Amino acid sequence: MPLTPSRTVSELRDLRELTGDEAGAQRVCWTDTWEKARAWMRDKLSELPVEIEVDEAGNQWATLPGTSGRAVLIGGHIDSVPNGGWLDGSLNILGGLEVLRRIAEGETPPVTVRLVDWADEEGARFGRSLFGSSAVAGSMRDQAELRALRDRDGILLSDALAGHGVDLDRALESRRQLESAAAYLELHIEQGPVLESLGLPLGAVLGTFGVERHRVTFRGQAAHAGSTPMAERRDALAGAAKLELEIREIAARTGGGAVCTMGGVVTKPGIVTSVVEEAACLLDQRHLEAQSLASMLAEAKAASDRFANEERIDVAWERIWSIEPILFDETLVGLCDEAIHEVAGASYRLPSGPLHDAAEVARAGVPTVMLFVQSLRGLSHTKLEDTKDEHLELAVQALDRLTARTIDWVAAGGGR
Ligand SMILES: [Zn+2]
Repeated sequence: MPLTPSRTVSELRDLRELTGDEAGAQRVCWTDTWEKARAWMRDKLSELPVEIEVDEAGNQWATLPGTSGRAVLIGGHIDSVPNGGWLDGSLNILGGLEVLRRIAEGETPPVTVRLVDWADEEGARFGRSLFGSSAVAGSMRDQAELRALRDRDGILLSDALAGHGVDLDRALESRRQLESAAAYLELHIEQGPVLESLGLPLGAVLGTFGVERHRVTFRGQAAHAGSTPMAERRDALAGAAKLELEIREIAARTGGGAVCTMGGVVTKPGIVTSVVEEAACLLDQRHLEAQSLASMLAEAKAASDRFANEERIDVAWERIWSIEPILFDETLVGLCDEAIHEVAGASYRLPSGPLHDAAEVARAGVPTVMLFVQSLRGLSHTKLEDTKDEHLELAVQALDRLTARTIDWVAAGGGR
């Protein structure tokens, strides 16, 4: 049967009907509703000549054998956040299903094609994102912390996993899944406003942002709000306020999609009758280039020292979390551009702010690219998440064209 993108849209609506309610999608990983979604998916896959298996980390694979065992992977996640959207993750799964149908109709492909549904991309229940893909990529190194993780009801992650046939101690054995992987493709909603603002349905993703997260604490002296003259104050909040305005200048000067956010400031003593003694700021900086990210961090540190000096206060930095930028494969980004041009006439290259399973696969050394489709109003992780039907159909067509090009590339010796 030829590719039928409208079928993907109607299947996405069926899945929403089956696993959502008036508050949104409820396919939280390691729950009955998630299991129901996966069983529904296995049912769809069973109509195709594919082998279905669930690996040691809970990832669900469908393999369409080709002449060669080298494999082109298409990946997504059917899990959602609570009260989530209908497209985040599941678009890639159902788009990939449609591509498998088209390929299965023809002659045996020259290389193997595999569709993977990653387990617990969202980390919604236990706070640990990218579970299945990090196990397969071999970057899961927090086993001790994972073993101690509990959900809000006190249930251990390992017990929840066991309820779905997954043994946490064996999760890393799923690494064998990448042994035959030659290339990895992932279609996803943009979850941001860039493509919509440009009036474009689709974009090729260059990679995922590197992130630097710090707690920046300014310390001054608490003093009476009435009796302390302005010139005598050592006001910690003044340093924080200056830094908050400066990070916007740093992002603007750096350019290239740089973003800096002060996500929170907690002041002490935090009462209306006292000068602020301590202001603890949460700073998040992101960029696609490691060098730019490092210089943004250095500029923010230098600025904070300057402000501390001006205000006669102290400042201390503490790293909370960081990850390096992950760049996707140049050849695949080019193939993705071509596929988008073919179906939509115009393409655009953009970085991804959020992390995705694709970042884990790329980190493991598999040539990777993502394809973004426009998100309406940039909204995601809410039931308001939406994309026009016509753009969803274009996205499935582009994924199909990208898969065809990638198969040819791998068959000709490209990829890993
Ligand atoms: Zn997602």
